[in-house]
Amino acid sequence: MTTIAANLQRVRAQIDQACAASGRKATEVGLLAVSKTFAVEAVLEAIAAGQSAFGENYVQEGVEKILALRERRPDARVEWHCIGPVQSNKTRLVASHFDWVQSVDRLKIAQRLSAQRPDDLPHLQVCLQVNIDGGANKSGVTPDELPALAEAVRALPRLRLRGLMCIPEPSDDPQVQHAVFARARALFEQLRAQDGGIDTLSMGMSDDLAAAVAAGSTLVRVGRGIFGHRPRK
Ligand SMILES: *Cc1c(COP(=O)(O)O)cnc(C)c1O
Repeated sequence: MTTIAANLQRVRAQIDQACAASGRKATEVGLLAVSKTFAVEAVLEAIAAGQSAFGENYVQEGVEKILALRERRPDARVEWHCIGPVQSNKTRLVASHFDWVQSVDRLKIAQRLSAQRPDDLPHLQVCLQVNIDGGANKSGVTPDELPALAEAVRALPRLRLRGLMCIPEPSDDPQVQHAVFARARALFEQLRAQDGGIDTLSMGMSDDLAAAVAAGSTLVRVGRGIFGHRPRK
């Protein structure tokens, strides 16, 4: 078994264990393999091990990988998520190549993504990034601004709002982790009460996966835990 295959198995086991510990079904929590900075060979290895959802932070790098993969494995059914900041001048690339964007936090970006989504592709699946712990220079809409942004995004024809994504400040205190994730869960439930299509709460990374799952995460995002040490950009 390759290292990546073994890592995937270990991370999946961690998720299953966290589900069991909080009385959830293992099938309720998906795993997004964050392949930023790793080569397309690493993605191919993960696909061979059964992984099908990948996340990229840097738009240009992500698109190059998506195109390279399509060339080498036209048969592979893979879902690509953009999880990094999206600038206005990158919306066309994102709309043309990704399946999901988890990092939408401004209406202007959402409007451009909708307008630029090619007609022959399905709706672009969208999560709103919410700044849950008030980090000053962080991306993400504030909880106060969230309902209005959600409503506006729902009205855009080529996007489908699926839920929320958050990236809390790292903490090694499980209680702090849990409190922050619980706030995200509450916002998610509010949104879901108004819209039956909301089903995705993307939170939890290698070090806070268990707390995120306990709080209701439906998608955890893991990079180094799967692909190993990240090469310098
Ligand atoms: C890089 C990244 C991850 C994965 O982080 P690792 O430390 O590699 O596990 C998850 N989510 C987002 C938004 C990221 O940028």
